[in-house]
Amino acid sequence: MKERSDSLTLKGLIAAQSRLSYAHPTASVLASKQSIIEAGIGGEEQVAEVLGRYQFPFKNTIYHDLSLSSDTYFQIDHLLKTPHNGVVLETKNLAGSLEFRDNPPQLIQKRDDGQIKYYESPVVQLERNIELFSSWLSQRNIDLPLYGAIVLAYPKQHVEIPPANTKILFPNLVPPFIKSLSQQGKGLNTPTFNWLSSELLRCHQTYIPKPVCESYQIPVGDILQGVRCDSCGKLGMIKVPRTWHCRFCGVNNHLAHQKALIEWFLVVKRTITNRECREFLQVNDKFTANRILQSMNFKSRGTYRDRTYFMDLRTIIRN
Ligand SMILES: [Zn+2]
Repeated sequence: MKERSDSLTLKGLIAAQSRLSYAHPTASVLASKQSIIEAGIGGEEQVAEVLGRYQFPFKNTIYHDLSLSSDTYFQIDHLLKTPHNGVVLETKNLAGSLEFRDNPPQLIQKRDDGQIKYYESPVVQLERNIELFSSWLSQRNIDLPLYGAIVLAYPKQHVEIPPANTKILFPNLVPPFIKSLSQQGKGLNTPTFNWLSSELLRCHQTYIPKPVCESYQIPVGDILQGVRCDSCGKLGMIKVPRTWHCRFCGVNNHLAHQKALIEWFLVVKRTITNRECREFLQVNDKFTANRILQSMNFKSRGTYRDRTYFMDLRTIIRN
């Protein structure tokens, strides 16, 4: 069993918006990307819940938000495997009426407000994932038939034109679909089945997105600096001996720099130098900055004068 991980992409988008001025031209782009990701996560959580509640009458393991690589990196929303087969599910959470076009493959969403949006066809995504997962399995000499379906998690979704050859399900129809697949034949023996379960977890790689500034071409100078006060939300806490002090609400917090540094890595850059740290946290003294950087247990490269630090972002998420 693998739960879904927190999305670093989502964390980055939220952090970036909190460090841009209200009128910044990219702020609305980030906000709409955030709502797309949140809708996607909402859909995946629904499917995870349905699968979690259901007792299948056969041995199975379930993985949510699984990231693997075979010929290339790929991400599976949900995978359920039994000794006899694997089911790959691709979840979509879109409002309005949907048209699945096959030629060229496209998903067209007509929203109730009349807006029309075009997406990459989830059929293509699903087929690609099945193909990549199938080659991942054959690289390990595992022969397991794979099935796939697209799950529409949005409650008021209406399918105008379904795809020609792909199963479309609502969340509560997922367990019956899985149950309907054959569990006959030899299948994987127990040691192989168990080995595959741990191999999937071992090979799962948390997706680390590029810093938001890089992905959205935001000049680094547009990012507001400073350490944020958790109590009043304002940026600009002052470093005083042993702690940080908020000049707006008077609160002290000796760990306030931690969140700011995580935001640096999500939003600005993959690395940080002593000088960048001083500027971003607004501390004057390089020895203080050094102590702060050392205390974070970052990995580092280079000698003292030109040392750069970097953070393993996987450490901040719940896997
Ligand atoms: Zn404050």
